[in-house]
Amino acid sequence: MPTFIKLIDEQDIASRVQELGQEIGRHYGEEPLIAVCVLKGAFLFFSDLVRALPQNMDVRLDFVRLASYGDRTHGAEKVEFKKDMETNIEGKHVLVVEDIVDTGRSMDYFLKVLALRRPKSVKVCALIDKSERREVELQVDFRGFALDKGFVVGYGLDYAEKYRGMRSIYDLIPDGDGRSG
Ligand code: 5GP
Ligand code: MG
Repeated sequence: MPTFIKLIDEQDIASRVQELGQEIGRHYGEEPLIAVCVLKGAFLFFSDLVRALPQNMDVRLDFVRLASYGDRTHGAEKVEFKKDMETNIEGKHVLVVEDIVDTGRSMDYFLKVLALRRPKSVKVCALIDKSERREVELQVDFRGFALDKGFVVGYGLDYAEKYRGMRSIYDLIPDGDGRSG
């Protein structure tokens, strides 16, 4: 078994998500919004966040799935859609809801694609903003938590498709790592 070190407790996630919902609500006010969940990792965050938005907000939901291929360490990574959005975003405000922005490559690709579709605005909401490995300049407009390093699981986040259902967020220390006992 790998070792799990609790980093963010479920209560802290819940209260931060409520604050983000209020913040996003204040930002958009009465303006219609298209909120886009980046699957799979953001699915729990997204479902909690949309319920934390002001109830009178004019919000529509959509989903995308991105996949990245190639060798990150050689900068050869390629990002593609596994599933594209279904909503026409031309002239609309779009809020992209992502689990983690790490190197920023996936988000950078997605934002470039979205820009070609001529939305009125695009903003990024990320549960976790990991800045240490950032490779592209990218602004996270609404950020749940900042982490500098580590590999985290739980609350939608996986390691090899496992641990998505864990209620808190944990630093995962794999077997064989000198740090695990
Ligand atoms: P980026 O293109 O920003 O490097 O990749 C971000 C994606 O990699 C995230 O959306 C997430 O799916 C995955 N990722 C990055 N860091 C972590 C992490 O610590 N834990 C998990 N489970 N996924 C991560
Ligand atoms: Mg992701």
